[in-house]
Amino acid sequence: MQTGEDNVSLRGNVFNIQRFTLHDGPGLRTELFLKGCPLKCAWCSNPESLKPYSQPGVFKSKCISQKKCGLCEDACPHSGALNFTRGKLSVIDRDLCSNCLACADACPSEAIKPWGKSMTVEECMAVIRKDIGYYQRSGGGVTVSGGEPLLQSEFVAALFKACKDENIQTCCESSFCVNWKDIARVLPWTDIIISDIKHMDPLVHKKYTRVENGRILENLQRLTREHRELILRIPLIPGVNDDMDNISATADFILSELGGQVRTLQLLSFMRLGEEKYRSLDMPYEMQSLRVDRRSFQKRVNDIARYFNGRGIHCLVGTKEKQ
Ligand code: SF4
Ligand code: SF4
Repeated sequence: MQTGEDNVSLRGNVFNIQRFTLHDGPGLRTELFLKGCPLKCAWCSNPESLKPYSQPGVFKSKCISQKKCGLCEDACPHSGALNFTRGKLSVIDRDLCSNCLACADACPSEAIKPWGKSMTVEECMAVIRKDIGYYQRSGGGVTVSGGEPLLQSEFVAALFKACKDENIQTCCESSFCVNWKDIARVLPWTDIIISDIKHMDPLVHKKYTRVENGRILENLQRLTREHRELILRIPLIPGVNDDMDNISATADFILSELGGQVRTLQLLSFMRLGEEKYRSLDMPYEMQSLRVDRRSFQKRVNDIARYFNGRGIHCLVGTKEKQ
């Protein structure tokens, strides 16, 4: 009988595939970003990942003009869903839109981007295989990220199984805010695990991500008990999680609960990313008013790295992981 893991015709919803990435795991990698996320972090730089289904995104500056083109309107089954300002597509009425993506297919100028595409494991493997030589030379491989890739755990398990069949290294970047059964499904085919600790206080965690952190911390502890090595990250956001109370609580948790299984703790400095994508979806960017003095914040991040290293936790600034 064919199991889910063996099924190369299984489909997942993928919103981006990047080749030759360097950040999420060692070496040169192909990274697949999957739709759907149980969190909604205020600083998220991938707002197009949040919904589990495909959606159209609007890039007004690329619109030719309603008068000269108008192909999106002709294709749309819902009158009034597409709204134009000064002759250019400006916003999609999300209450009228059924996310059919007919407008994105019809648009000749990429003014409407399809955020999300249904792809089979085999279609993804056709992209992944192009760079096998680079993975071998650089110690790289494939990373799934998101969104939360483990919301599509059957697809990820089948994809990773197909990778392992071709001797390609696999890495899963997850919030681990998922059921253990979804983690267990993917683990047999996973070489490297990356996860975040965003805040140690459950209520502050909920304030900034919409969920408490209990399930995430429990899953990290369980992965540790199963002797799985972890690459952990803290996305450092000024005024949210960079205070010493939270930093020392994070160090205490790593040292007492993750039993030496943390290979590296990576500190990611807050960057204002993804604003154009928020606009494309007509979503507010919650970090709009946050102003950061880059030089003094970088010094703060370096001080925090020194603190973790001083407590015996291997910590670096940034995502460059040794093989
Ligand atoms: S996705 Fe479909 S329903 Fe939505 S605006 Fe485009 S064509 Fe209309
Ligand atoms: S199809 Fe594209 S270019 Fe043409 S009017 Fe619509 S958004 Fe503009």
